[in-house]
Amino acid sequence: MMNKRLYSPKYVKEILNKHEFEFSKSLGQNFLIDGNIVRKISQVGEITDEDYVLEIGPGIGTLTEELALNAKKVVAVEIDKNLLPILDETLESYDNVEIIHGDILNIDIQKIIYDKMEGGPIKVVANLPYYVTTPIMAKLLEEDLNIHSIVVMVQKEVAERIVASPGSKQYGSLSVFVNFYTYPEIGMKVPKTVFIPQPKVDSAIVKLNIKEEIPQVNREVFFKVVRSAFGKRRKTLLNALSSGELGLEKDVIREVLENLNIPINTRAENLKVEDFIKISKTLPPLNIY
Ligand code: SAM
Repeated sequence: MMNKRLYSPKYVKEILNKHEFEFSKSLGQNFLIDGNIVRKISQVGEITDEDYVLEIGPGIGTLTEELALNAKKVVAVEIDKNLLPILDETLESYDNVEIIHGDILNIDIQKIIYDKMEGGPIKVVANLPYYVTTPIMAKLLEEDLNIHSIVVMVQKEVAERIVASPGSKQYGSLSVFVNFYTYPEIGMKVPKTVFIPQPKVDSAIVKLNIKEEIPQVNREVFFKVVRSAFGKRRKTLLNALSSGELGLEKDVIREVLENLNIPINTRAENLKVEDFIKISKTLPPLNIY
């Protein structure tokens, strides 16, 4: 039996009052109260009844409910134990939802995919607290999990950095990191008015389509190169790479760049993911262990 839809602001307030729930700022709790946005997130994720969905941070279950209506099964990981009795109540009529109490940063996601979602591929959907956006995305991407795509609501500025192209002001190590693993796109900009409490900043829904083949390169070297290059953004590439964490002499780096026809006086923001890959593959072995 379907109850009132959870995105109704009146219902959200009622249920929070009933359980004497207090928002935790430190857990980034801003709950959605807009049906259009909730539907849009599920649409951007192209969630169908064949999909297993991992939701991160279900809150009171607003988005979870929409996902449950569209997906085969939803597994949602929530850190705040005060939300568990609320979720029991709000999602009680959905038998394809399982809530796990835990911190997504410490949980074994691989095991969840195998134990509860037939090994995947799965789709990840999350309206993330802004302060943990980057570590959560890093964990999802770096662990080589069987994930088809990730749809996340993030701070608008973070979304712009993720999809930025080389040469633009927003292009940086986050853009390279995400573009290494995925093809990112912005699904929609979202005003702050669709949350309670209202955050200070606007948001955007981002979709990360995981690449079928992650580029073959020593990732540790690759990300060292990217960090060094962007670490000294104002320096030329040659100076940034020779003063960063690579520990290589300037002459060595100069030779590598010249062999690859990459101008030594260019800056990191002009290099594509493929350029960073080429540099990583051409460097002499680094002392990384
Ligand atoms: N999905 C709900 C919605 O859209 O209304 C809530 C979104 S709220 C921005 C973020 C949710 O993530 C909160 O419920 C918060 O308790 C939860 N959360 C924060 N850090 C978490 C973590 N490390 N692991 C799992 N959940 C987390």
